[in-house]
Amino acid sequence: DSSSGSSGFFSKRTFPGRVPAGIGRKSLRIVVTGGAGFVGSHLVDKLISRGDEVIVIDNFFTGRKENLVHLFRNPRFELIRHDVVEPILLEVDQIYHLACPASPVHYKYNPTNVMGTLNMLGLAKRVGARFLLTSTSEVYGDPLEHPQKETYWGNVNPIGERSCYDEGKRTAETLTMDYHRGADVEVRIARIFNTYGPRMCLDDGRVVSNFVAQVIRKQPMTVYGDGKQTRSFQYVSDLVDGLVALMEGEHVGPFNLGNPGEFTMLELAEVVKETSDSSATIEFKPNTADDPHKRKPDISKAKELLNWEPRISLREGLPLMVNDFRNRILNGDEGKGL
Ligand code: NAD
Ligand code: UDP
Ligand code: UDP
Repeated sequence: DSSSGSSGFFSKRTFPGRVPAGIGRKSLRIVVTGGAGFVGSHLVDKLISRGDEVIVIDNFFTGRKENLVHLFRNPRFELIRHDVVEPILLEVDQIYHLACPASPVHYKYNPTNVMGTLNMLGLAKRVGARFLLTSTSEVYGDPLEHPQKETYWGNVNPIGERSCYDEGKRTAETLTMDYHRGADVEVRIARIFNTYGPRMCLDDGRVVSNFVAQVIRKQPMTVYGDGKQTRSFQYVSDLVDGLVALMEGEHVGPFNLGNPGEFTMLELAEVVKETSDSSATIEFKPNTADDPHKRKPDISKAKELLNWEPRISLREGLPLMVNDFRNRILNGDEGKGL
């Protein structure tokens, strides 16, 4: 069956020059697309530290070399500047596909979710690699079911301003399942809920990074709308643990990966104030169209099948991010990509 990549040169699951990854496990060669970004760079750190070889593909659209510079001398690490919208030939065991313009400011400009995902699935098919898609809670749109389970099909506006992201990821999920069913590619789908932490893009308009950067710059925190909309915020190391558990496990998914703690934007502002600067203030701004009113993951499926759940609360995680932001802002290293 050549479509599954189970025969032929590129389907070999071990490659020459492989180094052992500790007792009882061969090291893997792993591609992380979007590995110079916020989540990707933390994932790369984890994979490198457990002994694997990692190839990052990134076009530095929102990612930064600074996020990976500590690995540049590591012989198990490789960085390729490449846009996944274009095909690429590599020989690997696993593909974590994170590349995506991930914030409203950036995601309008790029067909990455469709063309990039197609190319990475083509690559996975050719070499017999396992493919993990980082989808998003946004596939649930403005949800009519609360909290959201993986079985919920979502409430997405197909022609709105956010649609290229929501619908792009929904299409990416469809492509992933089609390659799984049609070409026997081993796939995994994660639906990631709002995640924060060090190395997050400073000015991409996400609420946690906005609030923290605003407080450090002594500006008021901009609360959109009435601030009563809710989100659930997950610390990045919890997400990375979940992604690896999903890739290594036996289940395709989709799996919600998020922290079920639910906060209104006003409550979030309060926690940021408590943990970073008690003199912080807020100001109200108009909200964007189609903004989901509430969002909170039901993670019982991941708990049961992946034995995973988040461990770090917002109050524990925020100070770790505040330190990183403070250093970057005070050093003038605001990071718009290289
Ligand atoms: P990020 O912007 O920090 O990282 C995305 C990376 O992809 C960047 O390094 C960027 O340069 C790269 N990239 C973008 N387009 C590319 C292209 N065409 N070719 C090659 N590289 C490209 O964002 P993140 O928060 O780290 O998100 C990572 C993944 O997780 C994304 O797929 C995103 O949709 C998903 N996700 C993130 C969150 C979150 O809260 N952070 C929530 C839901 C889903
Ligand atoms: N592709 C790639 N690297 C590979 C194999 C495929 O980038 O190692 C791309 C390929 O160029 C195509 C896409 O992935 O655009 C889908 O590949 P597939 O073989 O599934 O489709 P086909 O080429 O048969 O249309
Ligand atoms: N938001 C806000 N102030 C900001 C940025 C965002 O109040 O400076 C709100 C936004 O309207 C939304 C929520 O915070 O209701 C989360 O926005 P974000 O873009 O971080 O994530 P997403 O909407 O993708 O969940």
